[in-house]
Amino acid sequence: MKVKQQLLGMKPYKPGKPMEEVKRELGLTEVYKMASNENPYGASPSVQVAIKEMAEQPQIYPDGYASDIRAAVARHLNVLPSQLIFGAGSDEVILMLCRAFLTPDTNTVMASPTFSQYKHNAVIEGAEIREVPLKNGEHDLSAMLDQIDENTRIVWVCNPNNPSGTYTTQEEFEAFIKQVPEDVLVVSDEAYIEYVTAEDFPNTLSQLEKYPNLMVLRTFSKAYGLASLRIGYGVASEDLISMLDPVRPPFNTTTMAQYAAKAALDDQEYIEDCRQRNRKGLDEFERFCEERGFTYLPSQTNFLLMDTGVPGDEMFDALLRKGVIVRSGEALGFPHSIRVTVGTEDENQNFLKAIDECLSENSFVVEKQ
Ligand SMILES: *Cc1c(COP(=O)(O)O)cnc(C)c1O
Repeated sequence: MKVKQQLLGMKPYKPGKPMEEVKRELGLTEVYKMASNENPYGASPSVQVAIKEMAEQPQIYPDGYASDIRAAVARHLNVLPSQLIFGAGSDEVILMLCRAFLTPDTNTVMASPTFSQYKHNAVIEGAEIREVPLKNGEHDLSAMLDQIDENTRIVWVCNPNNPSGTYTTQEEFEAFIKQVPEDVLVVSDEAYIEYVTAEDFPNTLSQLEKYPNLMVLRTFSKAYGLASLRIGYGVASEDLISMLDPVRPPFNTTTMAQYAAKAALDDQEYIEDCRQRNRKGLDEFERFCEERGFTYLPSQTNFLLMDTGVPGDEMFDALLRKGVIVRSGEALGFPHSIRVTVGTEDENQNFLKAIDECLSENSFVVEKQ
């Protein structure tokens, strides 16, 4: 058989370690998963009710157009229903964009490190990947502009960026998109927007009219707490959405996901509460880093990248033995860091205690600070 050449060296996505596996392997009873930026409080309580109501008719295909959640999101964002495209997570919207725009004679521009799925899907389409290193942990938008040429089809701005947690300001974003040629798609991936507290964060939705080549990605997987149900969406001009829609699989979001998302969206008070608790947790993490002399990148997300000076994989292993699952920075482009998701108050305290214990119990070789 002859699959696409580019698939030969590729590996599937490597997710954070599942809790049950860690418990089994290490004989632990209590495990804290702080690795995948899920909402530690779960979804709004109203989601449970919606899910139970929808559990009755699994044999019926979902509404392929996702009409109810489409109308609700359109109202919430003050855009037209026809300006939205839904996916099984925003991951699937990324896949659809790559499928629609990229071919082997095109290229795509992105930061490095950034969210892995832009590159992953672009490689599958055979496109050339142009990666621009972060500058001081942030997108280097002027260097990204320099990489755009007549074969560029998509430029990705992950805002705030995963895994660095940093963000691009309104002013920076506007100055950037103004200079991007009109026929190049700019994607602003805003998976963590519900956690953002910075006042100069871009309002990209208000720029959609001015920039028909802009697409904003959002998800219900993070603050809304619906990661297991797989639903996210893109917002763009009607023209862009109608060009993209034929790529979308006909029943790509499930009935359960659509109803749960509607219930989650309706409870904005819950989201506000999660945002505030998250900010408190981040502040605690940042204070801890300052006390211990660790460097970190200020975060507008629900995770923090901490440079403990210890190789990320070693700190990951040491924490794992204490039942705390984080992500090693090594695979994410920050070799002396770990990326930790902000948890509940208890989880956060437990994590900070575990770090201190790891540092005093292990003779790590601190390579760089
Ligand atoms: C988590 C994440 C997504 C995708 O989440 P879905 O669960 O597929 O909606 C997209 N972009 C970034 C930056 C993320 O961190």
